[in-house]
Amino acid sequence: MITIRPKICAVIIFTVLFIAAPLLAAPSQGHLTVKRYNLARSRYNEIKFSPKTARLNNWQAAARAFVRAYKTNPYSDRAPASLLTLGHIYFKMYKRFNNKDYLHKSLTYYDDLASLFPKHPYADDALYHTARIYALTEGDYKDAALTLARLLAVYPNGDMLKKAARDLLRWKAAQARKEKARSVRVRAAAHNAKMALHMATPGPGMQTAVLKNLRHWSTKDYTRVVIETSKPVIYKGFLLKKQKDHPRRLYINLRNCRISRRMQKTIPIHNGLLRRLRSAQYKPRIGRVVLDMNSVSDYKIFNLEKPFRIVIDIKGVKRRARAQTLLPAPLVPKNPTLAQQLGLRIKRIIIDPGHGGKDPGAIGVGGLREKDIVLKVAKMLARKLRSRLRAQVILTRTRDVFIPLEERTAIANTKDGDLFISIHANAARSPKAHGIETYYLDLTNNKANMRLAASENATSAHNISDLQKILSSLMHNSKKQESAKLAHIVNRNLVDEMDKDYGGIKNHGIKKAPFIVLIGAQMPSILTEIAFITNPKTAKRLRQHKYLEDLADGLANGIIQYTKVLDLARR
Ligand SMILES: [Zn+2]
Repeated sequence: MITIRPKICAVIIFTVLFIAAPLLAAPSQGHLTVKRYNLARSRYNEIKFSPKTARLNNWQAAARAFVRAYKTNPYSDRAPASLLTLGHIYFKMYKRFNNKDYLHKSLTYYDDLASLFPKHPYADDALYHTARIYALTEGDYKDAALTLARLLAVYPNGDMLKKAARDLLRWKAAQARKEKARSVRVRAAAHNAKMALHMATPGPGMQTAVLKNLRHWSTKDYTRVVIETSKPVIYKGFLLKKQKDHPRRLYINLRNCRISRRMQKTIPIHNGLLRRLRSAQYKPRIGRVVLDMNSVSDYKIFNLEKPFRIVIDIKGVKRRARAQTLLPAPLVPKNPTLAQQLGLRIKRIIIDPGHGGKDPGAIGVGGLREKDIVLKVAKMLARKLRSRLRAQVILTRTRDVFIPLEERTAIANTKDGDLFISIHANAARSPKAHGIETYYLDLTNNKANMRLAASENATSAHNISDLQKILSSLMHNSKKQESAKLAHIVNRNLVDEMDKDYGGIKNHGIKKAPFIVLIGAQMPSILTEIAFITNPKTAKRLRQHKYLEDLADGLANGIIQYTKVLDLARR
């Protein structure tokens, strides 16, 4: 679409209500907590007095006892001591049994203590031990020094002050030696494998940005987090402690970004892949958002503009891949697609009516609005699919409301959709333009396709070329082949259905372009432009209920045919 849209007002929609952090140590403590804590303490003492003879199961029993005491009341005044001791126990287990999982657990407990009980006298102990682990076992003097710097700044009256100051000098010196050695092999350092570096266009004069909003969606094996800042920032993502199949912490540093007290928070999330989302002012000029993950098998970070936002997509480690639970299909057609090979059925379809709320989409003849047309067609399509296919159908919006593009994809992924259909209407400068076209996500050199994507993405054409660069690194896991097939079948059926009743329907065919709404979708996904609302004849028809019903029929025919093609493989 090339129509000029009204300016989008800069209202920020807070779609996520932040959950308040848990209360700090409750004043009362149950008798049971004390009893269990004392029991755990005595188990631990037994090991401490005879460390040579203690076996792995003695250590594990002591750790379990502290976990039990902690869980009896996670807010009791014994909870910080339990967490601290768990950190110690697992660190000693790591030393004794040389298993990195224990080291990892140790860090987790220290971190839980520091973030859940920041005002407790043990909080600085946790930071101190964390820094020691970074330095002595990981050789990460930089993070060790940063952790201690934080300790000194936040706990100037704590009992760890002297030790922290002493170690800080040590780790800084070690870091300087390391950097000197590293400068000899500059080239190798440039490719630090664990570092995912993403550069965004820095704002003019590098003024400080402000963290405005954090949004998140999570299921058992998928998480999307969106960080919104007041202006573009340079950001880097780091995946920490990646060991075997237990990576777990991803953090994003936001350069020149301020995070206000109000936005510095810990959001505990107890369901799904994302365990906890935290934001804090890491250094005076660096804001940090930390994602504590249950697992990470793959992650991607990219940024969108207007407003500037950083999108983090994470896939977890699936306990059992769906492919393994199904027997191979007995009869496979020529050139079977992936979904056919896996014998997947279409159980849930996500339909996305484009635009909505403050974003009207394209404006057509007589003030016809894209957002209204596509919502009507989407609702009709949902009804038809429910009755004809008996599939579950989920709409990303059922009323005139604004939903950011990246949230629509997140809905499709978190609802575990098998297909994603985004419905739009086209616009052109020339009132003569008419017809139907369907897109799937891919890079493109075609100027017209890029213009359309820029319009649907509500960004500049310049941003599209940036998006293409990002996309080239995101594409390898997309369902491109399946999406192209879905696009082809749906487009063909839609054109046929409309041509049958009205004649002269122009088929613009299947096209590809970088649509934001399709980026990161984990299922075959398409964006279809069902009509040109800038064509007078079409606009007149779009005001008729019957024409919209026919459009919905055409789309439904296509989706149903696609599922039948898939089912061929199962017969
Ligand atoms: Zn649109």
